[in-house]
Amino acid sequence: MTIPIRENDSAIQAAIASAHYPSLAAALVHLTGDASLIRGGVKPVYEFFGDGQGGLSDQQKSKIAAAAMTTLGALRDGHIARTARPPLSTIRETMNFVAGTEIPDRYVPFLVEELALEGQDRVGDMLEDIEAGRKQAFHVLIIGAGMSGILAAIRLGQAGIPYTIVDKNDEVGGTWFENAYPGCRVDNPNHMYSYSFAPNHDWPHHYSTQDALFAYFRDVAERYGVRARVRFRTEIVGSAYDERRKIWVSRARSADGREETVESNAVITAVGQLSRPKLPDIEGLGSFKGAAFHSAQWDHSIDLRGKRVLVIGTGASAFQFVPEIAADVGEMFVFQRSPPWLGATPNYHDPVPEGQKWLLKHVPTYAQWYRFWLFWMLTDGLLPYVSVDPAWQGSPGAVSVANEQLRGLLTEYTRAQTDGDADLFRKVVPDYPFGGKRSLRDNGVWLATFKRPNAHLVDDPIAEITPDGVRTRSGREYAGDVLIYGTGFHASRFLAPMTIKGRGGRDLHTVWAGDARAYLGITVPGFPNFFMMYGPNTNIVVNGSIIFFSECEIRYILGCMATLLRNGHAAMEPKQEVHEAFNRRVDDGNRKMAWGVPQVSSWYKSASGRVSQNWPFALVDYWEMTRAPNPADFAFMPSGADTGSEV
Ligand code: NAP
Repeated sequence: MTIPIRENDSAIQAAIASAHYPSLAAALVHLTGDASLIRGGVKPVYEFFGDGQGGLSDQQKSKIAAAAMTTLGALRDGHIARTARPPLSTIRETMNFVAGTEIPDRYVPFLVEELALEGQDRVGDMLEDIEAGRKQAFHVLIIGAGMSGILAAIRLGQAGIPYTIVDKNDEVGGTWFENAYPGCRVDNPNHMYSYSFAPNHDWPHHYSTQDALFAYFRDVAERYGVRARVRFRTEIVGSAYDERRKIWVSRARSADGREETVESNAVITAVGQLSRPKLPDIEGLGSFKGAAFHSAQWDHSIDLRGKRVLVIGTGASAFQFVPEIAADVGEMFVFQRSPPWLGATPNYHDPVPEGQKWLLKHVPTYAQWYRFWLFWMLTDGLLPYVSVDPAWQGSPGAVSVANEQLRGLLTEYTRAQTDGDADLFRKVVPDYPFGGKRSLRDNGVWLATFKRPNAHLVDDPIAEITPDGVRTRSGREYAGDVLIYGTGFHASRFLAPMTIKGRGGRDLHTVWAGDARAYLGITVPGFPNFFMMYGPNTNIVVNGSIIFFSECEIRYILGCMATLLRNGHAAMEPKQEVHEAFNRRVDDGNRKMAWGVPQVSSWYKSASGRVSQNWPFALVDYWEMTRAPNPADFAFMPSGADTGSEV
């Protein structure tokens, strides 16, 4: 719902000056039904590195601004009513206009849904034909109250399915609650990194800081009545499937060590992939005498001012906190094993202009078109740049001609920032292909940090952590007062440290043997009614936001529950051959992506070198595959007599 316009012309004009012009033009077409504005000489182009306005000239922007003044004034004065949704052909044409490229046919239904142009959100209604009593008798345990767990609870609540939700922390928010290190912020544009059904037109920044993200998730959890229902400070230590009763029996341990049993017909794990901090496997770990902590467990009681600080790691977390603390610390040494690719993002730290917030709130469909534009720019449009060309004969620092071209662009971007400092330039240009690891959004603060006299980037590998600091392979000792680990998470140890036992007492970690696999990242053979969110192979490197995946997953999970309840089944699990065929496809797909090539090592790969984290295909593929479960993919267990135990 948009807010009626009451502002005078000059206020509207001022707001328009902050517009994303292609999205504004699209909203005007939507509002008036007149597509002439996007059929004339105004035509944005798809550009990866640009001003974000599709390369429109000042003259073209003025044309859109003039049309907007006329239309928004008329809307305010009651001269135009909201028109009905334009025909699909016009929406299609408008999509091509905003994206600056011809959008393939198969994307259209997907994008129309993601666009939610009429604000429709029907996912929670998927089970409305099922009798309430049946739904009431089906209880679900949700493990985790972060972004995915909150979403699962909202959807189950809308569908009329009772649930218990637990979280190990004393607040909701998961990663956005835990990661409170200085400078922590989202690296996906916020207007896309939010639930599709809960837009926020007041994001303070294009990429907001952790406090704003945490406030958003807490607020949504509150609004949908989820937060009050979370059992905080409660960890599920294990879940076992009772075959006779066809229920899951889980052991919940509260912070005071007490254990209780939770019984449920299904389990949804929503524990994230990046929730268990990882300390590096370096000799001498633990011997350091000073204060030491991991970025995800930042010790705010330690005053870094004037201290000699040692940082291990240059991944996404360190990339954010190192520039933030540089001015305070006395001296800082940042130990880099391999550099990240820097992706130019000039507005990374910029606030959202007030005019843009006004447009998002007042201009019908502008917010949806803007979200669509972000979605297209940052999602599947990038995949060709990170796909392996099997005929590629060039350097191992690229995987295709397009990837090599991107390397060239980014290398020049980096060079321009090093001001002729050849040593710094040598250290910070990766030797692996772009897309091998997550590239980091950069507005210049990272390299500016290492131009400070008190901040040093060390690429001499660490040999040992000592009581006084760090000793590198060349023998140099770096003494420090504080040691900060920006060393990431135990990502490939999915669901650890929980013990999950399925049919026949089979242990999920034994089945996985260090290489987690699931069908669509959600279900596993032998583990009936056990559903994962952000499970194996549902992470993305370049395309999109994890919230999108979570929304697909919960829709699919609700579809599974609908199938069970409609047909009077007690439980379902994927067939072994379906699971295996799917995983073969995924493995093959990942081998063809920049993150799957052997010269790259990252948290995306398990110890065996298999990519256990990432989705190798397009978002539209995941959307299509998770539209609804195919009953032929599953084995079903009939309802037993003894499933309705009280939970
Ligand atoms: P990470 O990407 O896994 O980075 C860990 C860093 O520690 C890397 O530089 C790694 O070097 C280094 N390292 C690990 N073990 C080491 C060892 N034994 N010796 C020396 N160096 C070692 O972890 P992260 O920075 O916490 O980020 C993890 C993921 O979280 C990101 O990829 C991203 O998906 C997400 N994240 C997102 C944001 C955001 O902007 N919203 C912020 C933080 C994190 P190598 O690269 O050589 O392995």
